[in-house]
Amino acid sequence: MLQALACSMAIVGAAILIGALLPVRRLIKQLPSGSVRRNWYTLAGLIKLFILGYLGYLATLWEHPLEKHDLLVPGVFLLGACFVWLTISLSLQTAIKVRRVTLLEQENITDPLTHIYNRRYLERRLHEEFDRAQRYSTPFSLLLIDIDHFKRINDSYGHQVGDRVLCHLSKQLQKSLRPSDIVARFGGEEFVILAPNTDLEVARGLGERLRQFIERHDLVLDPESSQTPGIKLTVSIGISDSQNGCRTPKELLHQADQALYHAKNQGRNRVAQASPQAPAPPQEVLCSNT
Ligand code: GH3
Ligand code: MG
Ligand code: MG
Repeated sequence: MLQALACSMAIVGAAILIGALLPVRRLIKQLPSGSVRRNWYTLAGLIKLFILGYLGYLATLWEHPLEKHDLLVPGVFLLGACFVWLTISLSLQTAIKVRRVTLLEQENITDPLTHIYNRRYLERRLHEEFDRAQRYSTPFSLLLIDIDHFKRINDSYGHQVGDRVLCHLSKQLQKSLRPSDIVARFGGEEFVILAPNTDLEVARGLGERLRQFIERHDLVLDPESSQTPGIKLTVSIGISDSQNGCRTPKELLHQADQALYHAKNQGRNRVAQASPQAPAPPQEVLCSNT
């Protein structure tokens, strides 16, 4: 009787451990390759060893008659297996929840068309970087980029091609920047680059490099056909920096907007920098964060 009870407890324990291997496998699938994933593989190996241990114990059960206190071992085995199963199931649920939240957070700050940061994220980072630059007296520049005559591209090739142009430009911008720079879609065909630790002179060089790069790299609509000409793109860029008399992030953006306006007026396809202490905007330039 006692033997049968001990035997059932060990068998149920082993079955629970075998069942626990399933959520482990699902959990491993959720993880990117790396040390955490390797550790979970190790844990799966350990569980298999435990299962062997349980089976070994089962084999020894029939060697001599059991006393009541001998039930302690299979009891601990059973509870141990339950604990392993619960811990792993909880870890799996946590991993799925964390992944979902991370995805939502990512979507919340990403522009759905171009997959670069959106205006919401830009405004948050603009405030953060501006405050940091003020606190540590470091330079901080902002580049406002606007595609020239974008409406003509839409009118000539259609909106879908216009969208491809926006994606193409986003990739070009991302490719040409330092990891510390932040590029975001400000709206429509306008993009903003936040360049921390970058003064006006360096930002001007960066803007000029970007302008030339975009001018030289047409968007090839059909890479298979050498007949289809690429779409020529040019941009105008307005630059401002936080050491140019700006007291707020809003003023920094306003100065870049003024500089962009200047670049457009001077004929487009050029970089213009803000004149010192341009007047504050008459109305809100930034959206609220809600
Ligand atoms: P400028 O050189 O003065 O900047 O001229 P522009 O034609 O680029 O500027 P305008 O403001 O006259 O037109 C911008 C156009 O961008 C109009 C709008 O339909 C288009 N646009 C805005 N958002 C999108 C988008 O997501 N996709 C596409 N395809 N077009 C867009
Ligand atoms: Mg525009
Ligand atoms: Mg434009």
